[in-house]
Amino acid sequence: MKYALVTGGSRGIGRAICQKLYQMGYEVLINYVSNDAAAKETLALLDGHGELMKFDVGDPEASVKGITQWQEAHPEAYIEVLVNNAGIRRDNLLIWLEPQEWNQVLRTNLDSWYYITRACLQPMLLHRYGRIVNVTSLSGVKGLPGQTNYSAAKGGLIAATKALAQEVARKKVTVNAVAPGFIKTDMVEGLDEASLKQNIPAARFGTPDEVAAVVGFLASADASYVTGEVIAVNGGLYT
Ligand code: NAP
Repeated sequence: MKYALVTGGSRGIGRAICQKLYQMGYEVLINYVSNDAAAKETLALLDGHGELMKFDVGDPEASVKGITQWQEAHPEAYIEVLVNNAGIRRDNLLIWLEPQEWNQVLRTNLDSWYYITRACLQPMLLHRYGRIVNVTSLSGVKGLPGQTNYSAAKGGLIAATKALAQEVARKKVTVNAVAPGFIKTDMVEGLDEASLKQNIPAARFGTPDEVAAVVGFLASADASYVTGEVIAVNGGLYT
């Protein structure tokens, strides 16, 4: 059995990634923080080829415990694909941005990367095979007004992707990122889609499946010589 862990796998982009990895033959560990009903729906879509892993990725003890307990229960296996997808946004202009809005976004989108990736990395190195895919954002590539917290977290994720890629390439572990633009999920609820899509060359928001397709490639054996890369999935918005 091959195992993949998707953080924030209960809804949106994470759910589509879980489905993609299941189609690729993985048993999928679905992490989430609170939405039990959505997580169970994702699990049902995998025909039983997965399990739920409920913990807050921004909590260092809970993250390490969740992964360590799974590893102890499966001594013969390891997580060979890790998708760091869990994320939140708390938008505000910097002048109004409260400390908790800064801290919540940094802990969930960036600190989590350190806890989860570090806990999963050693078995990948020992097995000399691993795929780490980080879900960053257009906001982390170009910066978006009203998102200094989110842009900083996602930009940090890109820099960490590039640094770790160089640390582990010799051990056949690749580390890449996808940078979605506007994707139709709960996260973009409340945004003015009609007006925003006028700036998107493809003239529409993307779908979670369109992001999952790129993650699937980066998570595959075919992507063995791609590392430290950031692939935009944004309908041409950045260019
Ligand atoms: P979403 O629909 O809001 O789903 C967020 C997912 O993250 C849920 O599964 C949620 O779990 C989980 N989550 C949130 N906080 C968590 C925590 N502390 N610990 C564990 N899981 C947590 O978001 P999405 O649009 O699919 O976004 C997925 C990723 O893509 C995020 O990193 C986001 O920043 C990035 N992204 C999204 C867009 C977009 O337009 N949608 C664009 C660029 C980048 P629960 O269900 O339990 O709440």
